[in-house]
Amino acid sequence: MAEKTVDMNPILQSALEYEFPPYSEETGWDKIVVNGDHSHLCPTYVKRTPPCQASCPAGEDIRGYHNLLRGVDKSDNKWEAAWRRITERNPFPAMMGRLCPAPCQEGCNRQFVDETIGINAVEHAIGDYGVENGLSFEKPTVSTGKKVAVVGGGPAGLSCAYQLRRRGHDVVLYEGRAKLGGMARYGIMGYRMPRRELDAEIQRIIDLGIEVKTNTKLGKDVTLDQLREQYDAVFLGIGGQNGRDLPIPGADLPSVSNAVEFLVGFEEKGKEGMQVPKRVTAVGDGDVAMDVVRLALRLGAEEVTLLSAVTREDMKCLDQELTDALQEGTKVEYAIGTVQVKENPKGGIIVECVRMEPKEKGEEGWDSPIPFFRYKPIAGTEFEVETDMLVSAIGQAIDREGVEEVVGDAPWMKVDRNYQVEGMEGVFGGGDCLSLTLLTTAIGHGRKAAERIDDYVSGRPFEKADYEDVIRFEKLKSDYFEITPQHTRSHVHLTEVKDNWDDLLTKLTPEETEAESSRCMSCGLCFECDQCMIFCPQETITKFKKNPIGTVMFTVYKGCVGCHICSLVCPTGYITMGMGEGL
Ligand SMILES: Cc1cc2nc3c(=O)[nH]c(=O)nc-3n(C[C@H](O)[C@H](O)[C@H](O)COP(=O)(O)OP(=O)(O)OC[C@H]3O[C@@H](n4cnc5c(N)ncnc54)[C@H](O)[C@@H]3O)c2cc1C
Ligand code: SF4
Ligand code: SF4
Repeated sequence: MAEKTVDMNPILQSALEYEFPPYSEETGWDKIVVNGDHSHLCPTYVKRTPPCQASCPAGEDIRGYHNLLRGVDKSDNKWEAAWRRITERNPFPAMMGRLCPAPCQEGCNRQFVDETIGINAVEHAIGDYGVENGLSFEKPTVSTGKKVAVVGGGPAGLSCAYQLRRRGHDVVLYEGRAKLGGMARYGIMGYRMPRRELDAEIQRIIDLGIEVKTNTKLGKDVTLDQLREQYDAVFLGIGGQNGRDLPIPGADLPSVSNAVEFLVGFEEKGKEGMQVPKRVTAVGDGDVAMDVVRLALRLGAEEVTLLSAVTREDMKCLDQELTDALQEGTKVEYAIGTVQVKENPKGGIIVECVRMEPKEKGEEGWDSPIPFFRYKPIAGTEFEVETDMLVSAIGQAIDREGVEEVVGDAPWMKVDRNYQVEGMEGVFGGGDCLSLTLLTTAIGHGRKAAERIDDYVSGRPFEKADYEDVIRFEKLKSDYFEITPQHTRSHVHLTEVKDNWDDLLTKLTPEETEAESSRCMSCGLCFECDQCMIFCPQETITKFKKNPIGTVMFTVYKGCVGCHICSLVCPTGYITMGMGEGL
């Protein structure tokens, strides 16, 4: 056998410097990894959940598609394989890559080495690859004969319909509006979510063989009782369709509206049918408020003002959204309360305002989790804002028509841990109708509800959620990974946006995407770095014989002396010394 020549790397160095505790009855064998040059423990290979996946509400196999893209897991077409892997759980990668604020990245272990993996940038490139290459989903090969009604063609309903259809159930999708997409279409505009990609990602779900009934509203065209009678189960993904009006006098004036009316009006009428006056004022501090002001500017409003009831630090919107809104020409007034709206005899309307300040410690509401409630008006600071149109962007509520029985007096729908409406067997729900959330959460709810609906219509007891053994940074050997900066997307910043509907986010090139995927540390799963094989003094680790959980390293146990080195050099925390425990 050829002699191994290896450099002493920092991982081996640390392995050799490891101080083992002495054996005692208290510590037990499991605390002792080496006894001289051997122990009774041998390596076991334990696949663990990476924290990125645990923090993605849609539950994507992020590590899996990075490993495919960088060629660790071999496939004939790695881009298509990565697309198929992503869409197992999230059929909207082009959408999520653009719009998701990426909670997965907050969990990513790479942030403790240099910078988090640019997960949504990779997702964006894979999603667009799928659209550009016309990839479609494999049609179901079985038909269960079970029928499920999905109400609501937004991300939650579409995700649920997709997962149910793939399992061979017949799905009929009821949508109250003319087009599918929910708030991804009627709230989020084309410069953030281009329609070609949105339409393609929706269409290929429908092409699985889903029957769609648009312009069909539950509560108007069909009742819940009828659906319950005709179908084996019903999923409600009806979102929060009612924009909240300002709770102040004058909020019913014709020049006052809310964000949902404004944004949906634009999507329905198009820019030609939607005239905005010269001066537009919005009230709110979240991302929806940013969409309102940015749309007003694109439609040609010349003076666009945002009144935020809280300071910049307390605003709910993403920093990037606010920065864009400011650069594009929005004037933002911070810590402003709105008191009343009245007609302006000179034309337009007058918004009576007052300056706000944070409450003193101990005052009612000073520590409320909702920033707005932590503020109070400052007497004597009243002033007026003259404008032509006022749009309230202070939240949304569920449209109760047709679901009165389900929602009752509560502000939102309630479901149990199986996404089933309490006291209504066979009726499930998810997404924004449970409380306003993110696209990724709505997609995750849709999938999880579909899994439980699958149990329900198949007559199986509900499956319990798996316990997730999440691998944290401390379990990795991070010295193995070279410092490599993140490959970032560029964002087009505009100062003049009138009539500009371009997608403002550029995507990574294929080379940059693969390089970004290569930064992934494959937390909790082998990626064939070969460290264990190289450093095993017994030469008893080998590869390419697929072991039962699908990775390539394996130990010939009769050669193993339990020296522990393989587990100490494994960068991903995949090896646990366990075999032989209790002997
Ligand atoms: C302006 C705006 C911007 C946003 N930006 C982002 C963002 O950048 N990133 C992000 O992650 N999230 C964002 N969100 C949130 C995201 O859009 C929602 O969390 C997501 O769309 C919720 O999906 P859903 O399917 O539960 O509900 P929805 O998207 O609201 O879809 C519900 C669907 O049900 C239909 N429906 C309702 N009632 C009935 C009925 N009775 N009968 C038949 N059909 C019915 C509706 O017409 C709609 O199509 C934004 C939301 C808004 C409003
Ligand atoms: S859906 Fe959001 S949280 Fe999930 S992987 Fe994509 S960017 Fe991350
Ligand atoms: S390094 Fe890779 S596997 Fe680990 S948490 Fe980040 S994206 Fe996930």
